Amino acid sequence: MYEVHVSTMFPAAHALRNYYGKTEPIHGHNWRAKITIAGEKVDSMGLLIDFVPLQKEIARVIGRLDHQFLNEVPPFDTVNPSAENIAKYLLDEFAASVPPMQPEFTVNVSRVEVWETDNCSAVYLPK
Ligand SMILES: [Zn+2]
Repeated sequence: MYEVHVSTMFPAAHALRNYYGKTEPIHGHNWRAKITIAGEKVDSMGLLIDFVPLQKEIARVIGRLDHQFLNEVPPFDTVNPSAENIAKYLLDEFAASVPPMQPEFTVNVSRVEVWETDNCSAVYLPK
């Protein structure tokens, strides 16, 4: 099994709803996300997946969240913008777009970790 990791960072604001019965004050984080791609085989170049198109896809998805008030960006206009839910959102987004990037073999987005601060992170794993 091979794994490839790509990390990215994006500043964005959020305010958790129903946080002990109230909506948190709006505040920002320099969110960090680490996306893990896994697969059994590498291609003829020795690559599990090419970093260049992968980073472009990550930039496209993260671009929707970068410098935004997450509570106003779907699905976080209805889903609470917690680190856990952001990790799940990112995994679902990449899971839909990453496999066609490597048609020779099956690759999976196997893990997304999102850091709200240097010391606090949440991980989402597919079922
Ligand atoms: Zn926060």
